[in-house]
Amino acid sequence: MKVKINQNKCLGCGMCAIICPNVFEIKNGKSQIKKKADFEKNKKCLDEASKNCPVEAISLS
Ligand code: SF4
Repeated sequence: MKVKINQNKCLGCGMCAIICPNVFEIKNGKSQIKKKADFEKNKKCLDEASKNCPVEAISLS
């Protein structure tokens, strides 16, 4: 599984970091993927985060 954050779209609202704190964190006003984030283990919240991002900046593939 691959996770991408479109940095140009991201507003830094923090929603993804609240929904899926093991994967996302806000740094310098933008969402970042944490080092060593386990995407498989966090599949459910990744899905939720992607759906709830207000600007659809998170893509899963
Ligand atoms: S929910 Fe979307 S806009 Fe908000 S911080 Fe996460 S990636 Fe950025």
